Amino acid sequence: MTAGMVIIGGGECGARAAFALRENGYAGPVTLIGAEKHLPYERPPLSKDAMISPEHPLARTIAGEDRFAEQDIRFVAGTTAIGIDQEAKDVIFAGGKRLAYDRLLLVTGAVPRPLPLAAASRHCTCLRSYDDALVIRAHLQPGARIVIVGGGFIGLELAASARQRGAVVTVLETQARILMRGVPEEIAGVIAARHRQEGVLIRCGVAIAAITDRETSVTMTLADGEKLEADLAVIGIGAVPVTALAEAAGLETANGILVNAHLQTSDPDIFAAGDCCAFPLALYGGRQVRLEAWRNAQEQGTLAARNMLGLCEPHLAVPWFWSDQYELGLQVAGLADEGARTIRRDLGDGAFILFHLAADGRLVAASGIGPGSSVARDIRLAEMLIARSACPDQAHLAAPDIKLKSLLAA
Ligand code: ADP
Repeated sequence: MTAGMVIIGGGECGARAAFALRENGYAGPVTLIGAEKHLPYERPPLSKDAMISPEHPLARTIAGEDRFAEQDIRFVAGTTAIGIDQEAKDVIFAGGKRLAYDRLLLVTGAVPRPLPLAAASRHCTCLRSYDDALVIRAHLQPGARIVIVGGGFIGLELAASARQRGAVVTVLETQARILMRGVPEEIAGVIAARHRQEGVLIRCGVAIAAITDRETSVTMTLADGEKLEADLAVIGIGAVPVTALAEAAGLETANGILVNAHLQTSDPDIFAAGDCCAFPLALYGGRQVRLEAWRNAQEQGTLAARNMLGLCEPHLAVPWFWSDQYELGLQVAGLADEGARTIRRDLGDGAFILFHLAADGRLVAASGIGPGSSVARDIRLAEMLIARSACPDQAHLAAPDIKLKSLLAA
């Protein structure tokens, strides 16, 4: 009898993988193990819609119980694996219970990077799960003082949502500007200006020296002695991959569980995908990256499933992520830090795209910002150019009247 496929991690990536196993014709047992008590749900709305919707937000589940039943996928909620016995090919749970696998997929995700100074505070929290979102949302009342530590994606999306609910918002960022990770300065500047226009106080280059709880509030003391009072502080200073299980099993890790282009770990029967894994991007000379992005979780979940079935397909997708703040939509395709030169294309209505070219003229990334989804189409076309390692004419990239589609045809 076949032991089947076991997936550890009940997020977007794990759920996609489970369904993809069935879509690709696998008929053996499939077990999906999730640490949270909820069915797998989408995380992107947690900092946006779930914060601002007038009615109580429900977790946006990827599939209902009926769909899991219909596909004969066993979903085990509220359960954490504590070990892997590679010799026996068993996953081990608390109490010594075991579950055998033929192929195992680790999609353990990432957790918020802890801020040690905030560890003992009852008024500091993080945003990762649906339950976290409900706690934060309950504090977003008109006039509530919210301090957000970290001017990255989570912090800024939350700042926009909190403002929309009438809270008084301060963002504390250690770096000299917001969005240092993966977003060019020109675009970060547009986002910072929009936040300021809404009354969000963004303070860059500051360090927190102490965090002290009071009865119903918290005092953040900055390095220069200044004190800030908040009803709630949200810590959004990045995420760390969950690799403990992989490390205990002796799998190779380095800023994530190391996998090859087929998403296979150093044990050929164990795969890893999504936020928890570091994988080589062929497009950038095999550079090892770890992506915390929704589309990456989806794509890698599906790819891991296919490769668990022996299809041996390489990961070729171009990295892509987006962020929505107020009416602004930001999108980045590719890795902007691979660029040596930048070309700007204005799309009208304040929207623009930056094309990032390598020294040899190859398009390596494109980042854009504008109202709503104004940059979506051109970013999609840029993504196709990036995937082809195209070297588009720079004057053409800068000229809005020259359609990107025509560059693709060239
Ligand atoms: P997230 O997904 O949590 O938003 P990002 O990496 O996009 O993660 O952003 C995290 C931000 O937090 C970065 O801009 C980083 O410079 C900032 N940061 C890191 N540590 C601190 C700290 N101790 N205080 C304030 N900001 C911090």
